[in-house]
Amino acid sequence: MSAQGTATLSGITILGSTGSIGASTLDVIARHPDRFTVTALTARSSVDVLAEQCRQFHPQYAVMTDPDAATRLQQLLKTVAPDVQVLAGTDGLIEVAGMPEADLVMAAIVGAAGLLPALEAARKGKRVLLANKEALVMSGALFMQAVRDNDAVLLPIDSEHNAIFQCLPDDYKAGVTPRGVRQILLTASGGPFRTLALDKLENVTPEQACDHPNWKMGRKISVDSATMMNKGLELIEAGWLFDLPIGKIKVVLHPQSLVHSLVEYNDGSMLAQMGNPDMRVPISHALGWPDRIESGAEGLDLMAAGKLQFEAPDHERYPCLGLAMHAWQLGGTAPAILNAANEVAVESFLGREISFPSIARTIEHTLAQCAVHEMDSLETILDDDAMARTAATEFIHSSGKVAAR
Ligand code: NAD
Ligand code: MG
Repeated sequence: MSAQGTATLSGITILGSTGSIGASTLDVIARHPDRFTVTALTARSSVDVLAEQCRQFHPQYAVMTDPDAATRLQQLLKTVAPDVQVLAGTDGLIEVAGMPEADLVMAAIVGAAGLLPALEAARKGKRVLLANKEALVMSGALFMQAVRDNDAVLLPIDSEHNAIFQCLPDDYKAGVTPRGVRQILLTASGGPFRTLALDKLENVTPEQACDHPNWKMGRKISVDSATMMNKGLELIEAGWLFDLPIGKIKVVLHPQSLVHSLVEYNDGSMLAQMGNPDMRVPISHALGWPDRIESGAEGLDLMAAGKLQFEAPDHERYPCLGLAMHAWQLGGTAPAILNAANEVAVESFLGREISFPSIARTIEHTLAQCAVHEMDSLETILDDDAMARTAATEFIHSSGKVAAR
């Protein structure tokens, strides 16, 4: 990584460049042509968006996981960016995550599909900017070991984890408890259904679930925010990132999403990181670290913000939070099983096949059904992920799909 003001450019691969985090990352990168050059951009199937990004950013490589989409991209790029090399499939993702030209890798694919390339970036000792929390939830022990073994630099993009990182001392890796940390408080907005009558949840639509009050995000994480599975995944993510047990991390509802998380020290001090809910803030923090670079985000106007609220989460309203805590306590592959069941259930909800509360029912059933194993290898994790997807799909089919809303 070059120091600010020098002529050396850092190459960056953006996994999932057409998504919400990917687009925000490119927005920040476009502000710093003196610091970054784009090595590779990737997407599943959004050919037109990726072609436009290639025209604008001229990466060396573009990857489409869908092979037909890769062929179409190649056609489109002939006129707008003929020098871009097009790769296809998961192999293509892994290649651009680990190639020497990439100093930084933004892991912003949604879900388990992002695990293999994110892990490859860690194994190749990259600066890994981790948005894809599902990868860490699934493979925490292996992932953190790969980071340590290969001197990778892992920087959290999730706004809460990035906030915690900013509030911890520089040498926190020596152990946060010896550094005086009493506990960590993860803030959560509570999503769009925080005050909706519980009996109305059965009939909420995907559009309502994706209409987050504070953040504009991809559809899967928006539903996860509405169920608070997002916070459950983030608890596990924080446990791995900061090497803390479940009892040391507390979830606090904060509907304004202006305090992004807090660290409490044993002298009674609490450090918080604040800012507008704009992902370009944590993204630019991790891109520039340890420098501070322009993000394009507006500063927070505290006078306009007015009151800040904090409350305890209601576990009856958010059963997914309790399910995630249970999976974390079970350990081993239980978080991978939880994550896989959640991905299947959220997709079924978005496809109007199951109701919103059935997301938690599907996960609860799958966790009860599937045997948990030691997290001893990638193969075990992927096997249990597949087993959980089968169990969740069978549960959804056997319990009867609901009529489309
Ligand atoms: P998104 O749905 O907007 O974008 C997902 C990206 O991943 C797209 O580029 C898509 O082409 C790619 N992708 C999807 N499925 C794929 C597959 N099977 N194989 C390869 N590529 C695939 O999602 P997002 O909101 O940008 O979220 C990305 C990740 O960042 C998620 O893990 C999410 O939890 C995390 N995150 C997002 C936000 C946010 O504000 N959006 C905040 C914190 C964390
Ligand atoms: Mg978050």
